[in-house]
Amino acid sequence: MSAGFDWDADECGLGTVDAGGRVFLIAALGDCPDARAAAAEWCAQAIALGRTATVLSGADTDAVREAVDGARAGSRVMLAGAERDLMAAVAAVRAAGALPSEVTTHLTVRGGVAVFCPHCATAQDAAVAPGGRVRCATCGTVLEVRSHRSSHHGTYLGAVAEAA
Ligand SMILES: [Zn+2]
Repeated sequence: MSAGFDWDADECGLGTVDAGGRVFLIAALGDCPDARAAAAEWCAQAIALGRTATVLSGADTDAVREAVDGARAGSRVMLAGAERDLMAAVAAVRAAGALPSEVTTHLTVRGGVAVFCPHCATAQDAAVAPGGRVRCATCGTVLEVRSHRSSHHGTYLGAVAEAA
């Protein structure tokens, strides 16, 4: 795995499916609505081209690795998700033998997740995955990051994990 990923899809644009592919393995990584939307769009494109598409929704790295292991050579792998999930999944896919040209990525969230602190009512970027803990940068409360997103777009709700 090389240091520094150069994502081939920018954050606003969604890459299109490669018409040269016959079989598409599409994965929406983690609990990310934007990733699911990207996967749905890719699936629709693949089907419109008359191709076969398998979509994994809410996939983790293990699920992606398993699916790639079971895929035949020449399959196209399309991954959408937050940066941390995407980096892990791309590494797994490459390790499973997929060529860089066979892998398309769509980055939905760069860096950490946005966490809302219920104690001081601020949102902040935290380099932590849902389920992990982070200390609020504003008030110092230790927050446990819930896997369910709040209705506010892109923000995870922190729960007070322990007294600071
Ligand atoms: Zn706080």
